[in-house]
Amino acid sequence: MKNMNYTCKCCGTTYDKIPLCFGNDYPDYYLSVPVEEREARVELTESLCVIDDHFFHRGRLIIPIIDFHENLIFNVWTSISRENFELRNDLWNDATRINQPPYFGWLQTLVATYDETLNIKTIAYEAEIGYIPTIEVIEENHQLQYDQINGISFETAMAKVEQILAHRHTI
Ligand SMILES: [Zn+2]
Repeated sequence: MKNMNYTCKCCGTTYDKIPLCFGNDYPDYYLSVPVEEREARVELTESLCVIDDHFFHRGRLIIPIIDFHENLIFNVWTSISRENFELRNDLWNDATRINQPPYFGWLQTLVATYDETLNIKTIAYEAEIGYIPTIEVIEENHQLQYDQINGISFETAMAKVEQILAHRHTI
């Protein structure tokens, strides 16, 4: 029953399946760069970004839904040290990269429905070739860390989805 189409509560837009994956195309820091300076200062690809001498990468922050067969996923950006950024590039097509220890970073995405997520501590685990890293929140006593560890109910997930879509459909 939970596999049916999804109709947005705010406007009636219908989806083939429940939208459970959300995300941003660039790190939040990007917005602090004036539009006219972006071409000179920003280097942005689908999952990597360099702004001046700051390095960022995109990963998947997974929040398990306890009573459902899919998870809630946010594609987020975190900072990454220059050294690790170069390492990631060197290992881009290396299948053994999944054996790398995780990379530390500060979260650079406002995660919808969660308060104050900028600059909280994370670590990024390399994924198989073709996939972006998995991001684990390690900021203690933060709701995102708690939800990642404990999971959320389907009901809570649906409340988040409704809130996210309502916000998107009104801007
Ligand atoms: Zn809507």
